[in-house]
Amino acid sequence: MSEIARETVLVLGGTQDARALAGMLSRVASLRVVSSLAGRTVAPVLPPGDVRVGGFGGVDGLVAYLRSEGIAAVVDATHPFAARMSANAVAACAHAHVPLVVLERPPWQARPGDRFIDVPDVAAAAEVAGAVGWRIFVTVGRQELAPFARLVDRFVLVRAIDAPDPASLPPQSEVVLARGPFTLADETALLRAYAIDCLVAKNSGGSATRAKLDAARALGIPVVLVARPSRGISASRATVAEVANVADAARSVRSTLAARIVAR
Ligand code: NAP
Repeated sequence: MSEIARETVLVLGGTQDARALAGMLSRVASLRVVSSLAGRTVAPVLPPGDVRVGGFGGVDGLVAYLRSEGIAAVVDATHPFAARMSANAVAACAHAHVPLVVLERPPWQARPGDRFIDVPDVAAAAEVAGAVGWRIFVTVGRQELAPFARLVDRFVLVRAIDAPDPASLPPQSEVVLARGPFTLADETALLRAYAIDCLVAKNSGGSATRAKLDAARALGIPVVLVARPSRGISASRATVAEVANVADAARSVRSTLAARIVAR
């Protein structure tokens, strides 16, 4: 019996969407799926299919990897704030002539009753949060806490997957270790239990971490929302498609690979 020649798809991951996509593509018999994780999380939830962990070594390293592994298509399903990885993917795919599908989930938009304060970056978020809140809930991830260490006369509740460096925490702080998705009931209970009066979040979009915004709205709490960095995607000739959800990303991969086979 002859084996089906499988094409390898590289999914740049680290998100729930990336795991869902890897699951969807792994069910296609003609595809081999390799998910790539940066290695930041101590015990990551692993996606279906093959997994590799760690940086590629910049654009050159990624180009070399695409060639040595014979990657037929790449999906950038990283977090919207992983700007460097996304820019590297654009450059490397253009250089290696590998099609790139970019999964860009839409940012959150304010709904009636939301008290969003948009800020350009995490440093500005810490400044604004210190001006509007006394008991601040920070959900920007453990690696970007340094600006909050200056809030010495505020209480800061930090939520992260892994424990942050204690040096990055302000004196009056507490850390909750947890991994999403979170429910509205749990988020509301948390905000109430700590008498939070200001929430700080990245504008990640998606549903897994949306409940904290809904809880804040219900309790009338302002949300300092960090805007997304530019991912430098639109100008790229390598980008085959920008899609907004997992199902469209899977469809795009399949149609891209089918078009390549026809063109051969
Ligand atoms: P980043 O600043 O854009 O990337 C920095 C470097 O880390 C990249 O140049 C690359 O190293 C390596 N890297 C990043 N993502 C990678 C991946 N999926 N596979 C292999 N190498 C990767 O990224 P980041 O913001 O630190 O995010 C790291 C990972 O965490 C991403 O996979 C992202 O999806 C996930 N994540 C990030 C956030 C966030 O808020 N930033 C939130 C949730 C999840 P080389 O140049 O050596 O290739």
